[in-house]
Amino acid sequence: MDKSQTFDTVVAGAGVAGICACLVAAERNMSVALVEKEPGIGGAARDCFHTHMAGLFQSRPEMPFAPANPGVSLEIHQHLLSTLGNECLTRMGRVSVMAFDSSSLWRYFEDRLEKSGVSFFPDSEITGMGTGKKGICSVQTWTKRKPGETLTAKTFIDATGNAVLSRMFSTGAAILEEADLQLSGYCIEVAGDFQEDITLKIPYTARKIVDRNGMNPYLAFVTTSCNAFSKTRVIKFSLLEERETADCEMIFEQLRQEIPSLGAATVLRRSKRIHPRGAVLPKGRAVLDRPSGNQGCPARSFWPSEFWDVKKGPRYRYLDAETCYCIRPDHVTSAVADNLFFCGKSISATPAVQASVRVMGVCMATGELAAQCAAESVREQNRT
Ligand SMILES: Cc1cc2nc3c(=O)[nH]c(=O)nc-3n(C[C@H](O)[C@H](O)[C@H](O)COP(=O)(O)OP(=O)(O)OC[C@H]3O[C@@H](n4cnc5c(N)ncnc54)[C@H](O)[C@@H]3O)c2cc1C
Repeated sequence: MDKSQTFDTVVAGAGVAGICACLVAAERNMSVALVEKEPGIGGAARDCFHTHMAGLFQSRPEMPFAPANPGVSLEIHQHLLSTLGNECLTRMGRVSVMAFDSSSLWRYFEDRLEKSGVSFFPDSEITGMGTGKKGICSVQTWTKRKPGETLTAKTFIDATGNAVLSRMFSTGAAILEEADLQLSGYCIEVAGDFQEDITLKIPYTARKIVDRNGMNPYLAFVTTSCNAFSKTRVIKFSLLEERETADCEMIFEQLRQEIPSLGAATVLRRSKRIHPRGAVLPKGRAVLDRPSGNQGCPARSFWPSEFWDVKKGPRYRYLDAETCYCIRPDHVTSAVADNLFFCGKSISATPAVQASVRVMGVCMATGELAAQCAAESVREQNRT
């Protein structure tokens, strides 16, 4: 049986970047396949139970909520504002973020993908590809321990967060610059009646637990987040390897014993896996390595570079006023495969720039840019 199906574009990965790439590609009348190895959409943002979208705003003191980008990220911003009201606009120190109600955001994206006619392939990991002289011809999926589909397309968008397609196409297709070692995240969502200030109490108590048990010091970087739209709290642990989730669980149990309101809280969900903050970076036609003026950029990041340092915890490097990371088509177009584009946390940038552009708002904007580039490539291929 021939299981091959043909599309204008195949988007690999259904995190926020891949979702937005699909929506924009479909708006441009492209036939779109979205391939995701997990059962549902959302990627890291959903599995870490995010409460705030970063990177949507320029954060200028005189206009703190001026949008960073037009297009799909502005649409999401306006949708949240119209459903949640001004309470979702929040300042965190020097930056502006948008609080959101997680379940309605993911429902909104699911609805929009369905209405856009995007063919969704859940539980489908891309494990192989067919290549031609200048680019990728098809990808093969592996579904529930069985060979899945062969999806043929004119263009491919790598939104896997880890340059999976670039590396599959050619071993030299990733930037091998040594990155600062960044901590990954593992999160637990709880519901309860928190009378005391657990935001300060949790990191303070976690430090004592880690010292007392002689654990790796970075395991003490435990933070919490919550917002006005959900009654839950998210406890975020920082770790280097998957096996350290056992240490995080032990810290969590001891935190519950020492902080009464946390002990009384109900545990709702845990991340299915750990999520790296850094990424393997694909090699594009140009590498984004510095900020510049913010005029005329197709996609912009004003967010500070955020490093989760193994020794020091979170560190922020802010951009000067009136500058941004200006993301252009060459930063989302592969240097080696003519019909491959990237978006999200893994674009052609140095690790220091990646530490800025990986936030949700910017991932959405690069999803849009990758889809525009793919649409242009399809137009050219149809002409010749
Ligand atoms: C602990 C932590 C806290 C954070 N907090 C915030 C925050 O508060 N606010 C904010 O804005 N940002 C935050 N971020 C950053 C942000 O969540 C991510 O960088 C962003 O969600 C990345 O989106 P993405 O679409 O690029 O990648 P991902 O969300 O990683 O999506 C990639 C998708 O590709 C799929 N995939 C991978 N390989 C394959 C394959 N071979 N075949 C098929 N599918 C595949 C994966 O399953 C995944 O669903 C945080 C990140 C972490 C780790």
